[in-house]
Amino acid sequence: MQYFSTRGGIEPVGFLDAVMMGLADDGGLLLPERFPNAADKLSAWRTLSYPQLAVEVLRGFVGNAMPTDDLTRLVERSYATFDTAEVVPVHPCGPLFIAELFHGPTLAFKDIALQFLGNLFEYVLEKRGGRLNILGATSGDTGSAAIHGVRGKKGIHIFIMFPDGRVSPLQERQMTTVPDANVHCIAVQGTFDDGQRVLKEVFNDLPFKRQYALGAVNSVNWARVLAQVVYYFWAAFRAQDATGAEAVQVAVPTGNFGDIFAGYVAAKMGAPIQRLILATNENDILSRFFNSGVYSLGTVCPTLSPSMDIQVASNFERYLYYRVGQDSARLRQLMATFAAEKRIEVPEPSDGLIAAGRGDTAMTLATIRKVYETEGILLDPHTAVGVAVAESFVADVPTVCLATAHPAKFAAAITQAVGKDIARHPTLEALKQLPVRKVLKKPERAVIQEYMMETLKQN
Ligand SMILES: *Cc1c(COP(=O)(O)O)cnc(C)c1O
Repeated sequence: MQYFSTRGGIEPVGFLDAVMMGLADDGGLLLPERFPNAADKLSAWRTLSYPQLAVEVLRGFVGNAMPTDDLTRLVERSYATFDTAEVVPVHPCGPLFIAELFHGPTLAFKDIALQFLGNLFEYVLEKRGGRLNILGATSGDTGSAAIHGVRGKKGIHIFIMFPDGRVSPLQERQMTTVPDANVHCIAVQGTFDDGQRVLKEVFNDLPFKRQYALGAVNSVNWARVLAQVVYYFWAAFRAQDATGAEAVQVAVPTGNFGDIFAGYVAAKMGAPIQRLILATNENDILSRFFNSGVYSLGTVCPTLSPSMDIQVASNFERYLYYRVGQDSARLRQLMATFAAEKRIEVPEPSDGLIAAGRGDTAMTLATIRKVYETEGILLDPHTAVGVAVAESFVADVPTVCLATAHPAKFAAAITQAVGKDIARHPTLEALKQLPVRKVLKKPERAVIQEYMMETLKQN
């Protein structure tokens, strides 16, 4: 299987090169030459365990880049860190089904992709030699999931910057209590934007980037999208097992369009998915796009679902590429217009598969409260946005809502919704006892590079 760039500016590359490249060298996003057809495999796939299903789904995209035995071992290792053999439990919740994507080490759905990506990086380094120094800037969830994905891995160091005093104490502990020698947490004296700026500056220093084998783990990496395709099949099968339905619809709380693009791929492959419901919070650039065809930048507004407080959705370009008929020239034109004018318009935004809506803070709180009172189930605020929006899309097929985080990660929002402080998880409680490791640094390129060079010299 070969991969090309949405912007048409690179020679096709194989799966492992696509993973190591992250962002395509021409600034576009990587896509496979085709989506493997799974329509005639559904009945065989339905009875597989989660890791078995993952191997079958991934195999078609990996092609001959990896022997199936290696892929199987890698997948098994990636999901052995989850706290349930099911990996993604699916259970009824009133008229809906909830697919729990939060059983990995950091209790959020990003573990599903980043546990896999960490093992994949290690595999490539073992095969090809070399090393990888990951640098990231986080405002919360991604940093800890990335750290847990590569902790203790051979040939890899990870440096994560976060704004000092501006991430929740819990999120900070999920990063700074990881004891492995290859994990380096940097509290920068500034805002999240300062961290982002320094990150760009360090990556733009090309001699430094090459010499120190700098890499990223951002949400545009194809392996991250790919790992997420699996649970769309899995969740659809489980809801079908319970109801005998022909198909399902899936509600997806959305920020960067990564998760829902994985659903788009699954549906194109032939997964029994009739509709994808894209749900945003007040940061609604995507829901406005699907309802009006206008993709225009707003200002980021902080909400109870911070991992969706995003205006420019980094994976959206992948969808747009298909929406303009796989025309790279047209896509380049649209991206250039967006960069210049912060606004583009597409006549028919949806091909009928994706419907979209917005769930604001009041709806989020009301949904958490209602589901807790009627079903005894606590939803985290991101999941609640998806459930709230799903309610406006009635269908004659079952609705699966993706639960993207454990409620205990957002305990304050739960208290606000239900009036008592009841969201707990033993993993998070245990963090309170563990020693913390971090360094405090100024948000300056030279300061961060100096720290990286010193640290790598000693390791
Ligand atoms: C990252 C994240 C999302 C949004 O996922 P995208 O792939 O960016 O759409 C939703 N919920 C939680 C808890 C997240 O961490």
